[in-house]
Amino acid sequence: MAKIIYICGLGHSGSTILDLALGSHPDITGLGELAPIVREEDRSRHFRSGCSCGNNARSCAFWKEAENILERQATTTEKYERIIKYFAEKYGDDHILVDSSNNSYNYLSYLDKNHELSVIYITRDFRSWAYSRHLMAGLPVGYFLLRWKLENMKLLRQLKKMRITPHKVGYEELVFHTDVVMKDLFDEMRLPYNDAVLQPAISSSHIISGNIARVDPIKRSGFIYDSRWMLSSRLIYLSALTGFINRTNRKLVYSRLLKNGIKEFPVYGSRRRQDYSRKYN
Ligand SMILES: [Zn+2]
Repeated sequence: MAKIIYICGLGHSGSTILDLALGSHPDITGLGELAPIVREEDRSRHFRSGCSCGNNARSCAFWKEAENILERQATTTEKYERIIKYFAEKYGDDHILVDSSNNSYNYLSYLDKNHELSVIYITRDFRSWAYSRHLMAGLPVGYFLLRWKLENMKLLRQLKKMRITPHKVGYEELVFHTDVVMKDLFDEMRLPYNDAVLQPAISSSHIISGNIARVDPIKRSGFIYDSRWMLSSRLIYLSALTGFINRTNRKLVYSRLLKNGIKEFPVYGSRRRQDYSRKYN
């Protein structure tokens, strides 16, 4: 049985940087979005792309021999098995593979039954996600706020149908309190934590299919936050109407930080302040 971490969630929610960060762990290597590589006929497009390791896919230490094994006709799961076998030959049976394909593809159910699968569900704050999508696509920000809610509900329903319980993590909690959240996430996945996951820049991941941030030296240097949404007046006006989305947002994005309530928030909670006051006041 192979050990696999699958990153699920809406696109543009930080799955690529999380894949890179996990790939900095000595026991883990990320392979980016595997779904298009095992499913698409047009996979050669990905093999013409740049890998996150700095090489072109066809000269990358991991992918250079992988294209051949995917060529022969087979089902998606058979091709996935070939990748798993190839991965184990490169790194050993216990090495953990990360697939950050985002969507809830049918092969997840197969992986869950036949391998040791952990699913991480990553969510970016609805305001940040909607505003960046709005800037990219030019459609109204309100449209993307609703889409955030509906698409997340759909993805979570699909996982539930497959009887998969994901480990939820928020992009914001991950960026602002990386060590607290990563430790908590590893505890929950029952995997040994390693500080290296705080440095995505040293990742051993080989991502040829995924967000272009994979090869952008600034974006992959650490957990950098896109704070442009804070400048939006539209979001302030719309906030009166989005209370029902905010409830889901709190549960998906800030659950690890809010574990002990908002007054015990990491770093800014009252306990730490009291400890310091007692000592120095
Ligand atoms: Zn590579």
